[in-house]
Amino acid sequence: MEIHEYQAKAILADYGVAIPDGGLAYSPEQAAYRASEIGGEQWVVKAQIHSGARGKAGGVKLCGHEREVAEAADELLGKRLVTAQTGERGKGVYRLYVEAAVAGESEIYLGFVLDRSAERVTIVASASGGMDIEEIVASDPGSIVRINVEPAVGLQAFEAREIAFAVGLDASLVPQAVQLMTSCYRAILDLDATMLEINPLTVTADGRLLALDAKMIFDDNALFRHQDVSELRDKSQEDPRERTAVDRGLSYVGLEGDIGCIINGAGLAMATMDMIKHAGGEPANFLDIGGGASPERVLKAFRLVLSDDKVKAVLVNIFAGINRCDWVAEGVVQALRQLEVPVPVVVRLSGTNVEEGRQILKEADVPVITAESLAEAGTKAVESVTGRAA
Ligand code: GDP
Ligand code: MN
Repeated sequence: MEIHEYQAKAILADYGVAIPDGGLAYSPEQAAYRASEIGGEQWVVKAQIHSGARGKAGGVKLCGHEREVAEAADELLGKRLVTAQTGERGKGVYRLYVEAAVAGESEIYLGFVLDRSAERVTIVASASGGMDIEEIVASDPGSIVRINVEPAVGLQAFEAREIAFAVGLDASLVPQAVQLMTSCYRAILDLDATMLEINPLTVTADGRLLALDAKMIFDDNALFRHQDVSELRDKSQEDPRERTAVDRGLSYVGLEGDIGCIINGAGLAMATMDMIKHAGGEPANFLDIGGGASPERVLKAFRLVLSDDKVKAVLVNIFAGINRCDWVAEGVVQALRQLEVPVPVVVRLSGTNVEEGRQILKEADVPVITAESLAEAGTKAVESVTGRAA
């Protein structure tokens, strides 16, 4: 689960990381009021969305007057901000964070990420942080330092010092840097975060290390034991299709094409995707009904897939092991009878009770296009959309 920048900053501040003065705003008036509360002469107005790269997308605005703060807020609120990370739909801006602008002298990148294969937290740092970090990783990988933290002993002061020197911090700042990194590491362990990123981390003119941006991601499987973290969930930032699926216990991945896919298992999803693409089409989604799916579950899956108006055909591709083809067929029949299904439906069943499943489809006399093999299913789905042979 992702959270907003202001929420991550509040958590980090609790752990002793220094952040600029700031406050949340839901309206232009409130934004101007926050600026006056914070004081000073310059502020940044920052769109709170679950995405990075906001700066380059116009989601971070530097303002020199309270009136400008209100204007920036007016421009951002209610807008869908499209960044390099959001996809073309962008993310809705409903909250702003107003912060004292800081004249930072440097922009350091500091990231902590759970490396699942190494079973350790890896710390990644670079002296050239800021908005171009992705390009720097690609063009000058040598400028990035990495340390794997040994979980039995935790982050050691000497390791933190090594990172601090590697990113070019002055010796006078090293104790602060060690404290900051230790705090971050503790926050990750305490809260079951899988990622924590400060970019940029800056050095102020008066010699303080300050986090100008913060991002945290938490392990969904551990949220049950962090009530306070799970309350930070913001459903407005999630894909509405994926959200509905999660709320119904289905697993859904939204894509950009026009063939809705109901499948079981991630491996079959990948294979189905390949087959569709091979036939010249694009999937609109993958909806995984999982193992042991009842007819009702298949019906729910149809409802969800059809709620996306980009969908021009539905492909049901089931390889039944724990599942039963007769139940899936039953669900398909129910869907075609109970729902308005305005698009062609291609069904390919194989595995447990496949003969019974096919029989049910045949006897029900519903308008389904059946397929024997995965390749045939992909081809027929694409043909049913384009109207010509794939
Ligand atoms: P991101 O683009 O989503 O990562 O958003 P950031 O919060 O990192 O903001 C983008 C950029 O704006 C940062 O890399 C900084 O260069 C700049 N920025 C953000 N906050 C401040 C601030 O308080 N003072 C100054 N001078 N620059 C800031
Ligand atoms: Mn940033």
